[in-house]
Amino acid sequence: MIVEEAPGIFSVPHSAAEGKNVIVFGEKTAIAVDVGAYPEEGRQMADFISARGYKPNRVIITHGHHDHILGGEAFRGADVFAPHKTVDEIQRQIPSLCQQMGLDEDQIKARILHPTITFASQLWLDLGGRQLHLFPTPGHSPDIVSIYVADCRLLIASDTVVTGIVPAIFHSSAELEASLNLLKRLDVDTLISGHGPALHGGETVRDWLNWLTTYITSVRSAVANRIMAGDRDRAAIVDSISYDEYVGDRLPKDQHSMLKRHRNAVAKIADEEIAASL
Ligand SMILES: [Zn+2]
Repeated sequence: MIVEEAPGIFSVPHSAAEGKNVIVFGEKTAIAVDVGAYPEEGRQMADFISARGYKPNRVIITHGHHDHILGGEAFRGADVFAPHKTVDEIQRQIPSLCQQMGLDEDQIKARILHPTITFASQLWLDLGGRQLHLFPTPGHSPDIVSIYVADCRLLIASDTVVTGIVPAIFHSSAELEASLNLLKRLDVDTLISGHGPALHGGETVRDWLNWLTTYITSVRSAVANRIMAGDRDRAAIVDSISYDEYVGDRLPKDQHSMLKRHRNAVAKIADEEIAASL
């Protein structure tokens, strides 16, 4: 269901782990934020934009993962804004995209909504009476950006802030932690997450950002303690850091392969800490 999370800003569900794309309307133009993994997911967004009398001719890609870039068929010919780094990240991802989607390289390349306007670090976009500020929040991936809409204190956090799953850390837990700390300093009333429910109310947003950083730091210190005690066995370290203790009832254990997601996060942090201790 498409939900208006703040005036003129809509979350649009997609199929990957309670995924959320976003559509932002200004007085002059509208823009889609990410396009999902399947053409029908992007099509739903383009149709929604058209139905409100706007042209579906602008897209922001927050980062180069499959569920953000492969559903863009309905936006061919649009201006596609993305960080420079996302162009490289998409190239790097092609083999894994083929595997994930069961498609060959040519098919994947045809599915990708390629960025047409890139920026180095930050970008301000004016939709008419509404400014979007895009800025880097690396950690989940190296290229990812978040988007702040000041007029309604709304943050589109993409996969930097997941609310329905354990954090997916493909790049760097330290960078993710720094990005979360940066986001805590913003005045946010509504947060739209890349996966999971939107959060409403400053207190709720702060509580969740605090929990995410606590999760990362407490897993890291548990890993560091094991390493200090002489344990270098990644699998044993991962086994010792239990879901129940570190996630508990914060997230539904029986959904979205949550146990595996926790183990993946712990394994990533264990790899980082083992490498740092050598
Ligand atoms: Zn992602």
